[in-house]
Amino acid sequence: MNQRELFLKHVAQTSPAPLALEIVKAEGCNMWDAKGKEYIDLIAGISVCNVGHRHPKVLAAIQQQLDKYMHLIVYGEFVETPQVQYAKLLTDHLPASLNSVYFTNSGAEATEGAMKLAKRVTNRAEIVAFKNSYHGSTQGALSIMGDEYWRNAFRPLLPAVHHANYNSFEDLSLITTKTACVIAETIQAEAGVNAPTKEWMQVLRQRCTETGTLLILDEIQCGFGRNGTLWAFEQFDVVPDVLLLGKALGGGMPLGAFIANRELMWKFTENPVLGHISTFGGHPVCCAAGMAAMQVLLEEKLVDAVFEKEQLFRSLLQHPKVEAIRSRGLMMTLVFDSFETNKKVIDACIANSVITDWFLFAANCLRIAPPLTITKEEIKKACSVIVRCLDEL
Ligand code: PLP
Repeated sequence: MNQRELFLKHVAQTSPAPLALEIVKAEGCNMWDAKGKEYIDLIAGISVCNVGHRHPKVLAAIQQQLDKYMHLIVYGEFVETPQVQYAKLLTDHLPASLNSVYFTNSGAEATEGAMKLAKRVTNRAEIVAFKNSYHGSTQGALSIMGDEYWRNAFRPLLPAVHHANYNSFEDLSLITTKTACVIAETIQAEAGVNAPTKEWMQVLRQRCTETGTLLILDEIQCGFGRNGTLWAFEQFDVVPDVLLLGKALGGGMPLGAFIANRELMWKFTENPVLGHISTFGGHPVCCAAGMAAMQVLLEEKLVDAVFEKEQLFRSLLQHPKVEAIRSRGLMMTLVFDSFETNKKVIDACIANSVITDWFLFAANCLRIAPPLTITKEEIKKACSVIVRCLDEL
C-alpha cells in the first residue's frame, strides 16, 4: 500500500473527499509532493505559516530549545523561559490592559479558556456570538459556532448562547446585564472574509462596557499581521477585554493563547484554584518557535508590505468569471456564482500547482491567504495560473 492508501485506511477522516496531496517538503511559499511536483502555497496552512514554511530563524529557535528541554510539567508551575519571553514580547506589542497571557495547545482551547474566564469574572452565564463565526470544534466552541448545520448533530450544547447578526446594530440589544461575554472574530474568516464597519465595532465595544460584558475578540485567524496591522482590532480603534490567538502564534507549531488583564486572569487562581488546567499548553518548543516567528514578522517588517501585496493580487485577479474580490490584507476571497464553479477552479489550480482552498460557511468563495513572506514574483506567477484556470473554465 502506498502512503495515500494508508492515509485513507488508518488516519481518521473528516471528509469523504480530502485533498489528499502527499507533501514531502515545504519551504518558504512552496511545497513539493512525492513525485517532485512544486506548488505555490496560497493558504499557509490556513493562516498559520505567516513567515513561510521552515523559516531558518524558527528552525534555529526550535533546535536551541530542543537542546535545553522539552516538556517539564503542566502549564503554570515552573518558570519556563520560552513562555516568559514570549508572553513579554506579546504584551509589549499589545495595549497595556492586555498584559497577561495564558498559553494553550490550540485556538479552540483558547476559546474555551476565555469563555470560562468570562463566566468566572462576571458570574453570568449568557454568551452572545455571531452567525457565520468559527471559534473551534470542541463542545464549548461548537456551541457558539455561527451555523446550525455544523452544531445540530452534537446537541445538547451550551445553553444560553444567542447568535446575533454580525454588523447588525439592532442585534446588539441581545447584549444585556445577563451577558457574560460577547465573542466575535474581528474579521470573520470562514464567512468568506466578512469585515464589520468601524462604527459597528465601536458601538459593540461601548455596549459591552455599559453592560459589564467582556468583549472577546478572536484573532486566531486574522491576527499576526494578516490584515495589514499587527492586530486586526487596531483598525477599529477598540481594545478587547480578552484577545484570542492561535494559528500563526506558534510559527508552525501548535500553540494558542487567550490574553487579558492580570486582574481578570487572577480569578483562575481561586475558587476553584487551577481554574483552567492544560498539560501541554505553552509547550516550550512551541513558544520558542512562535517567538522566533513573531520576531521575524517584526524585523522583516512583513506587516508593512501586506497592503501592497493585497493590491497586487486584486489587480491581477480581475476576471469576468470572478463576481467579487473581498479582502482584508492577505486574507482574501474570490467570489464565484456557485459552489460548482468554485470547485472547478480550486481543482484546476491544484492540478496546475497552486494551492487554494474553501471556507466553512461560503461554498462559492475561494480562499487566498498566503504566507506574508510571499514575493511579488510569486504573486504574479500564482495569479497567472489562477487566471489561466478561469479562462479555461
Ligand atoms: N477561531 C478561528 C477564527 C479559527 O479560524 C480557528 C481555526 O480555524 C479557531 C478559532 C480554532 O483553532 P484550532 O483549530 O487551533 O482549534
